Amino acid sequence: MMMMIRFLTKESCSILYRTLSSSASSASLSNTKSALKTIIAATDTDNDNNHQPLMDTHGRRHDYLRISLTERCNLRCLYCMPEEGIQLQPKSNLMNNDEIYRMAKLFVERFGIRKIRFTGGEPLIRSDIIDIIENISELKSNGLEKISLTTNGILFGRYSSRLRQAGLDSVNISLDTLNPDQFQMITRRNGLAKVIKSIETALSEGYDSVKINFVPIQGLNDDEIEDFIELTKDSNLEIRFIEYMPFDGNHWRSDKMLSFEQLIKRIESKFNINRLPPKSINDTAILYQVEHYIGTIGFINSMTNPFCNGCNRIRLTADGNLKVCLFDSKELSLKNAIRNGMNDNEIDKIIRLAVQRKKKQHSGALKLANSSNRPMILIDQRKSISTSSSISGNFSHIDSNDGHQVKMVNVGEKFETKRIAQARSRIYIGQNVMKKIEQNQIGKGNVLTIAKIAGIMATKSTSNLIPLCHQCPLDYVDIKFQFNYQDEEIIIDSICQTNWKTGIEMEALIACTIAALTIYDMCKALNKSMIIRECYLLHKSGGKSGDYHHSSH
Ligand code: SAM
Ligand code: SF4
Repeated sequence: MMMMIRFLTKESCSILYRTLSSSASSASLSNTKSALKTIIAATDTDNDNNHQPLMDTHGRRHDYLRISLTERCNLRCLYCMPEEGIQLQPKSNLMNNDEIYRMAKLFVERFGIRKIRFTGGEPLIRSDIIDIIENISELKSNGLEKISLTTNGILFGRYSSRLRQAGLDSVNISLDTLNPDQFQMITRRNGLAKVIKSIETALSEGYDSVKINFVPIQGLNDDEIEDFIELTKDSNLEIRFIEYMPFDGNHWRSDKMLSFEQLIKRIESKFNINRLPPKSINDTAILYQVEHYIGTIGFINSMTNPFCNGCNRIRLTADGNLKVCLFDSKELSLKNAIRNGMNDNEIDKIIRLAVQRKKKQHSGALKLANSSNRPMILIDQRKSISTSSSISGNFSHIDSNDGHQVKMVNVGEKFETKRIAQARSRIYIGQNVMKKIEQNQIGKGNVLTIAKIAGIMATKSTSNLIPLCHQCPLDYVDIKFQFNYQDEEIIIDSICQTNWKTGIEMEALIACTIAALTIYDMCKALNKSMIIRECYLLHKSGGKSGDYHHSSH
């Protein structure tokens, strides 16, 4: 089986990504299932892969699963989330408790996953959090060794003892300042006292480990680094310094990031520290301890020294997409696989295929800063960015594996929003013909009425004419004409409206173009020197890229 997987073509794999990432509309469901079955059948020489570790082609065993439970959060940390929050998916798009359990069970029993971490958004916002942990802890009798949680600590104090009883083993609490005003500034909310209380509670309730996640940012909280290290003097805490990472829209700048090298120099100049041996080859943190202090300090150097070599992690986003690398924008929808009725054997195979495609290493820091990726809150949570958005710059129609392949963008998981586009074209026609049109003296019929009908009809055919355009349900199309005698032209304005996942600019442009060509066709016997002068987008609104107005208007 493993050999067969290796010989699977790129095409087969990308079909898997595309089919599974698309929404499970009932019409597409049977096609999706049969496409998958064909691929799975092609690999199904035996069942020996069941209960084998989850290996990639670089010899890395994956035994650590991070599951995001939600995209929502009760804080708005500057480096993570925009002030206004993010566009949330309907709850039905997120994995429910049963789906989380089914996935986790499969990962533990078939792939030997030993550690599961729940994260988010803020995982404690989910009202079924205790049930989720309770269910998952049943898997401890099947090989699961550890259940962990990453939280911002606002609600942890309230749930701590119930979480511990439910089976939670360890907790990471994120905290970037000990100053209440600064807390308000960084998280755009109040709540420092609650977070500190949560840390104290966690320390008193016998968790295996309590770690503090701290993202040092130059000019923001770097003056508190020493204060955080002092917390390890009398408490069995691990302070984890996480290098500030770039995500879509978090205003990352290289000069704001404090690298491990900068941090360690500074810390060594103030404390007597000793490096500790790694706890395992998969350790993401480089560990140190200040002499005679109880706790430890760790460094997560994702930017300057990515821990790709020992990477044993895979992630499930809150909407049920498998992400084999934090910085790989390709995702595979396991939630759709479940909802499409795939059985565990089938899901087992597609997961193995996905992990087989994991790259040896993610791009360097600078490339990451310039590439597009879900914000952390959406990685360890959700995305409504297209599930297979390209990693080759901004050209989402070009397949990242081969710049020459054609690829229709998968919009299966995008939100429907109200979108309006207006376009304009001009046709130089000459004064004489203009007058004849106005007076309805063209022998073939009413030119503008026919041009309008032609434009509207053509708009409906946009996806047939433009190869990579999606078929878009039109709510409204209109075309209007103005006579501009000064320039001897007719100005054609179109407007299109939809509630849909993709833009509607092409529809508006097609409407103008075909209306102009129809005028040309109806008048060509009277004037052969007509010119269709231009065709351009006047205005668009809605969608991820926001509003646009042509500079001339
Ligand atoms: N809400 C929970 C919390 O804050 O702990 C869990 C989710 S949060 C996204 C998980 C961790 O990612 C937090 O420790 C946070 O500090 C870290 N994080 C978020 N954005 C980051 C960024 N741009 N660079 C480095 N770490 C980041
Ligand atoms: Fe919320 Fe955690 Fe992101 Fe802060 S870091 S906004 S707490 S998800």
